[in-house]
Amino acid sequence: MERSRAALEAELEKIKAELSEARELSHASAQAKNEFLAVMSHEIRTPLNGILGMTELMLDTELTDEQEAMLGIVTRSSRSLLSIVNDILDFSKIQAGKYELFPTQISPREVIENITRLLAPRIHEREITVLSHFTEDFPDAVTVDGDRLTQILMNLFGNALKFTDIGGSIVIMCERGQEDELIFSIADTGIGIPEEKQDAIFESFTQVDASVARNYGGTGLGLAIAGNLVELMGGEISLKSIPGTGSNFRFSVTAPEAYRSKEVVATPPTEGGKRTILVADDNDVNRLLVERLLEGIENITVLQASSGMETMQILSQYQCDLVLLDIEMPDISGFDVATWARAGEIPYLEDIPIIALSAHIEPTVKQRCEDTGMNSYIAKPIEREDFLRQVKASLSLSS
Ligand code: ADP
Repeated sequence: MERSRAALEAELEKIKAELSEARELSHASAQAKNEFLAVMSHEIRTPLNGILGMTELMLDTELTDEQEAMLGIVTRSSRSLLSIVNDILDFSKIQAGKYELFPTQISPREVIENITRLLAPRIHEREITVLSHFTEDFPDAVTVDGDRLTQILMNLFGNALKFTDIGGSIVIMCERGQEDELIFSIADTGIGIPEEKQDAIFESFTQVDASVARNYGGTGLGLAIAGNLVELMGGEISLKSIPGTGSNFRFSVTAPEAYRSKEVVATPPTEGGKRTILVADDNDVNRLLVERLLEGIENITVLQASSGMETMQILSQYQCDLVLLDIEMPDISGFDVATWARAGEIPYLEDIPIIALSAHIEPTVKQRCEDTGMNSYIAKPIEREDFLRQVKASLSLSS
C-alpha cells in the first residue's frame, strides 16, 4: 500500500515535470516565431524604402502620362505594404517582449492637437465634426512615452475616421483618473461593432468580417498593437459599441504629472480657476493665429470650433466664459449663432461675452453685431494689444 502511494507520487512528479517542459517549449517556440517575424519585417523594410525612394525620384523625371500613373500605383502600393510591415514589426516586437518604452516629459494636449492636425485633410474631406475636451484637472505635462501614446491615439482616431460616415462626429474626452492615471476616450458615430465580435477585436488579425478589409483596408493588427501598448504602459482598454450608432474606445495609461519649469514660477490660479474661451472660425489659419495671441493670457483653456454648427454644439455641451466669433462662417453665420445664444434656450448663454471677429469694417456690420447681441467687435487683421485688452476686459466681465 505504502509503496504504491510512493509510486503514484513519483508518477505525478514526472507528469508535472513533463508539463512544465512542454510549456517552456511552447513558450520558446512562440518566442522564436515572434523574433523571426521581427527580424523578417525589419529586413523587408530596408529594400522597401529603396523602392519607395527610387520611385519618388523617377516621378521627378520626364515621363509619359501612362508611366506616371503606373509609378503612382507603385508608390501607393509600397506605402501600404510598408505600413503593414511596420505593424507586424511592432506587434512581434511587443509579443517577443522586446519593446522598450522611452518616457519623456510631454503635453498630452499637444499630442491630441498634432494628431488632429495630421488627420485634418481626412477630417475635412469627410466632413467629420471633431470635438476634444479636457477636464479641468487634466495635467498640462506628464511623463510618458509620447510616441507610443501618439500611436495608440492615432490608431483609435484613425479607425473612428475610417468607420464613420461622411458628416458624422468624433468626440475625444481626456480625463484624469486615479493617482497617475490618464483616461482617454474616442467616441464616434460610425458603423459600430456587433456585441459578439467586441471581445475578439483586440486580438491580432481580427476584423469584424471579411468585407471590412475589402471596403476599408487594414490588416486587423492596429487594435492588437494598441491593446498591447496600453498594457505595457500600465493601463487598460475597453470598448462600448452599438451597431449602426457608434463605438466608444476608452483606455488608460500611467503617466505621472510632470512640472514644467515654467509652472514653478507661474502665479497661482485666480479665484474660480481656469476660464474657457471658445474660438470659432472656419479658417484653420485664423484659429491658430487667435490661439497664439491668447497665449498672452494666463489661466485659460482654449476650445476651437470650425463651423457655426460646431460652435453651437460646444456651447451647449461645455460651460464657456467667452466666445471669439467669426461672423462669416459658411454654414451658420456668427450673427445667427449670437441670435441663438441670446434667445435663452441655454440660460448661461444669455449673458456670455461674445466678441465678433470680422474682416468687414463697415458700420452696418458693426451695427448688426450689436443688434444680434454681441458685446464687442474686433477687426481682422487683428491688432495684438487691442485684442488682448478686449479679451481680458470680457473675461473680468464674465467672472
Ligand atoms: P484594421 O487595420 O483592420 O483597421 P484594427 O485592429 O485597427 O485593424 O481594427 C480591427 C477591426 O475592428 C476593424 O477592421 C473593424 O472591423 C473594427 N473596428 C475598429 N475600430 C472601429 C470603429 N471605430 N468602428 C467600427 N469598427 C471598428
